[in-house]
Amino acid sequence: MSDLLARHRAVMPSWLALYYDAPIEIVSGKGNRVTDAEGRTYLDFFAGIVTNMLGYDVAEVREAVERQIARGVVHTSTLYLLRGQVELAEKIARLSGIPDAKVFFTNSGTEANETALLLATCARGSDQVLAMRNSYHGRSYGTIAITGNKGWKNSALSPLNVHYLHGTDRDRPAFRGMSDTAYIEACVADLRDVLATATAPDVACLIAEPVQGVGGFAMAPDGLFAAYKEVLDEHGILFVSDEVQTGWGRTGSSFWGIGDHGVTPDAMTFAKGLGNGFAIGGVVARGDLMDGLTANGVATFGGNPVSTAAANATLDYVLDHDLQSNAARLGPILLEGLRPLADSLPAVGAVRGKGLMFAVDMVDPGTGAPAPALAAAVLEGTRRRGLLVGKGGLHGSVLRMAPPLTLGEEEAREGLAILVEAITEVNAAAEQH
Ligand code: PMP
Repeated sequence: MSDLLARHRAVMPSWLALYYDAPIEIVSGKGNRVTDAEGRTYLDFFAGIVTNMLGYDVAEVREAVERQIARGVVHTSTLYLLRGQVELAEKIARLSGIPDAKVFFTNSGTEANETALLLATCARGSDQVLAMRNSYHGRSYGTIAITGNKGWKNSALSPLNVHYLHGTDRDRPAFRGMSDTAYIEACVADLRDVLATATAPDVACLIAEPVQGVGGFAMAPDGLFAAYKEVLDEHGILFVSDEVQTGWGRTGSSFWGIGDHGVTPDAMTFAKGLGNGFAIGGVVARGDLMDGLTANGVATFGGNPVSTAAANATLDYVLDHDLQSNAARLGPILLEGLRPLADSLPAVGAVRGKGLMFAVDMVDPGTGAPAPALAAAVLEGTRRRGLLVGKGGLHGSVLRMAPPLTLGEEEAREGLAILVEAITEVNAAAEQH
């Protein structure tokens, strides 16, 4: 065990997950690659979990942050006017498509979702919330309550009255083999059934990820959330889209993940990629909802000058370089390269994706059951070959890829070749057992 790993184990919680048998220490980055403490360089197909959306050491972001630091004010307080914060809020409000939108900044996705829950439960005077099975929304008391993925649910106690819907994670025995239309109908029936038992008029909101991130890039057929929303509207129930992983053009087809469903939510939460590594998150919501809170509020570091400098530069870069189109262009190349594996390799259960968000389910070649050990073996194989990828899903058996939106076509093909090689190798070993 490396010295740093031993020290980590000694002073950090055992539940702070680490990747790899011999976890790596990343010390520098350039473009879409990072280098570890031993001098090995990796093409990064996970980007700090969707966070470094422009990759590493981007001049525009670095210079914007350096300019702010050079002014001598890293932070004062949100009790004063902060120009960068207002400018960023204007951009996000405009991009959101939400009428009369207002924005509140936080430091993380967890806090963003806490804020959205606060807005919705206060507006509706209810502690009842609809969430999705297999979801992940954060690690605070409130967001754990709406997290359906048991592997990331560190507390069984809940400050909210939560009802879980079936929907985003389609891979359940009862729903397999259904057409999209039949599936959506079944999910809507499930929603109506839940509302019938949940004193429907009092439900505050539905909160959902358009594509479940931690849940293994599980995705519902486009249109599911539009069908849900019709039912929610009958009861005045609010809809919050958690865009922490899906925002900023990641899915290629829309700027927000929920756009593929043809729905404008009442609020969206965001974090991760916006600061390209600097801590920032937030909520964009209908103005009346946002202004519905009556007590004073402050977020000491939320939307601080350094993070907003990074975020303004990052968002401008995404728009100026039309990175959404890059995701739309490269996504199909990667998917088409991986899809044949689902037919040819028994250890590959399924391949799916949208834009630069794509996944491979590793399964037991004999039984077809989720195979977390095989996913872990692929992670080791890709790491050995110089590629970082992630994993997730309810059982930890899904390979998750979310490269920077700045990925080039050559890099896409390089990463694809490594993935195919590593998966093929693991499949061959698994078939011999
Ligand atoms: N929502 C989603 C969809 C996420 O993927 C995450 C983080 N993985 C969060 C919320 C929580 O964000 P943070 O870790 O910044 O608190």
